Amino acid sequence: MREVDVGIITERVKTLCMEANFDLGQDVLDAFKGAKAKEESPTAIEILGQLEENASIARQEKVGICQDTGIAVVFVELGQDVHLVGGDLNGAIFEGVRQGYQEGYLRKSICHPFTRANTGDNTPAVIHVKVVPGDKVKLIVAPKGGGSENMSRVTMLTPAAGKKGIIEYVVRRVTESGSNPCPPTIVGIGIGGTFEEAALLAKKALLRPIGSENPDPELASLEGEILDRINGLGIGPQGLGGRTTSLAVHVNMMPCHIASLPLGVNIQCHAHRHKEAII
Ligand code: SF4
Repeated sequence: MREVDVGIITERVKTLCMEANFDLGQDVLDAFKGAKAKEESPTAIEILGQLEENASIARQEKVGICQDTGIAVVFVELGQDVHLVGGDLNGAIFEGVRQGYQEGYLRKSICHPFTRANTGDNTPAVIHVKVVPGDKVKLIVAPKGGGSENMSRVTMLTPAAGKKGIIEYVVRRVTESGSNPCPPTIVGIGIGGTFEEAALLAKKALLRPIGSENPDPELASLEGEILDRINGLGIGPQGLGGRTTSLAVHVNMMPCHIASLPLGVNIQCHAHRHKEAII
C-alpha cells in the first residue's frame, strides 16, 4: 500500500485550477487555427483570431481566459493500492480549489441556489471519484462555465429513436442554444447507461483531446456526421455567422436498459479548460 498525504492533493488541485484558467490546451489552439483556415466569413476569421490572442494574453499575463472562471469539476482516478493519509479527500480538494481561486485572482462563482449568496471561495467543487488498479492518484481539474453548462441537457429517448433520434436531438440542442454557450463549442455526448451516467459520459467525452480519433469506428463516423450537421447551421463563432459553430463532437457510449436510450449532451464553450496531474 502506497501512502499519499492529502496535502499533496491540495497543492496539485490549487496549481491545476490556476493552470487550467490561464493556459488553454494546445489542441484547442490548433483547432482555432484549423477553423480559421477553413472559414470564409471575415467576421468569423476575426473572432477566431481574437480567441487566439485572448488565449495568448491569458497565458503570458496569468489572467483568466474568461471572466467566468467556472465551477471546479474535479475527476479523481484513485489507485486501489493507495492509502490516503493526513485528512479527507473531499476536504483536501476543496482546500485546493479555495487556494487556487484565491491565489490566481479567479472569480468565485458558486452560490446558494435560492438566496444566490456567494460561498466566497468557489467551493464546493463537483468531485467524481473512480477507483482504478494501481498505486497512483490522477487528478483532472476542469473548470466549467455557466453559459455553456446551462445549454446542456439529459434526455431519455425511446429505444426506437435510435441513431437518427440521437443526431436530431443533438443538432436541435445546438440550434436552440445559438450563441449562449459562446461558440465555437465542443459537444460532448453520452449515450447509454442511466440518466446520471449519460451526463457523466458526456462530460468525460469533453476531456478527449480535440483532433483525436474515437477508437470505435461507428462512433467516429457518428461524430463526423453530427459535426458536419452542426457546422452547417451557420451559427459560427460567437453566434455571428460562419462555418465554425463547433470545433469537435466527442461521443462516449455504454450499454443501457432494454427499455431506455439515455442521452447526455454537454456543451463546452471555447474556453475549454482542463489540466491534469498524476501523483
Ligand atoms: S460559457 Fe465559457 S466562454 Fe462563455 S462566459 Fe462562460 S466560461 Fe466564458
